[in-house]
Amino acid sequence: MLSEFEIIHRFFAPLSAEKPDILLGIGDDAAVLKIEPTHELVVSTDTLIEGVHFFKGADPKHIAYKALASNLSDLAAMGAKPHWFTLALTLPQVEAAWLTGFSQGLKDCANHFEIVLVGGDTTQGPTLVISITVMGTVPQGKAITRSGAKPGDSIFVTGTLGDAGYALQCRREYRPCPRLAAGMSLQTIASAMIDISDGFSADLNHLLEASHVGAMIELARIPLSERLIQALSREEALALALSAGDDYELCFTVPEKNLPKLDCRCMLVGHIEAKSGLRAVELDGQIRDLKIQGFKHFDG
Ligand code: ADP
Ligand code: MG
Repeated sequence: MLSEFEIIHRFFAPLSAEKPDILLGIGDDAAVLKIEPTHELVVSTDTLIEGVHFFKGADPKHIAYKALASNLSDLAAMGAKPHWFTLALTLPQVEAAWLTGFSQGLKDCANHFEIVLVGGDTTQGPTLVISITVMGTVPQGKAITRSGAKPGDSIFVTGTLGDAGYALQCRREYRPCPRLAAGMSLQTIASAMIDISDGFSADLNHLLEASHVGAMIELARIPLSERLIQALSREEALALALSAGDDYELCFTVPEKNLPKLDCRCMLVGHIEAKSGLRAVELDGQIRDLKIQGFKHFDG
């Protein structure tokens, strides 16, 4: 049986790296990190629980990748550049093969999005729980919040929607791609932004409430992947795109004066209106209130 210290030494310490902004990484009582005086720190935490966020017995490589990628999506949604993360891991038992896969998935994602593990905590408990805290930076005052949308702003989404929901229906693994480059490119362009983790209608609604505005969406403009269009009817595909979670695309608003500066791959899906609530031009051309549906804990 591996001890707590052997686990850290074998599976997590190798993920640390020498970087000028890491004065002290894994191994001491805490990490010491350096941030530019012209920048602000952006911090977010997310927890994944076995049986709630992933199936028992799921591939550890995939679990780790998804855990870090979904956290990185929150940094993307603020327009932040990722730097460091910590990992709090609760394990029911210690299996070297599982930990090998897990640390490999974590490393793949960390290397791809240039974020370094700087600390964490390793404990034993009844259920597998993975809690990650990501830290990034933005130039002073440039974080993009949910609350800046104004009537007349255009609403955009990156990528395609509903793919993660369809993968879940098929019990297929889905590897989210946090839109960090797009998020950073929007620092001086977007008026508000959120990442789509619970479902498009639910997350857009969070942005609308935070900004005290409403919106009109054109359902014909919701971006759907070729795979989804081939596999499902238009109505089924749209239902997933509007309400299924885990896509980790970005939804953001842009004032008219900034539209010429917009320089990331995205789709215009609607406009912000002064009247509160979420409305949609449906495929038949009728305007109806859009049902707000998404994943919620403590529902029931
Ligand atoms: P302490 O008892 O002082 O909190 P720990 O024994 O918990 O220290 O951790 C020792 C070192 O290993 C710390 O630097 C901690 O950040 C790091 N660490 C512990 N668990 C992990 C993990 N799962 N991933 C990365 N670093 C970890
Ligand atoms: Mg500790």
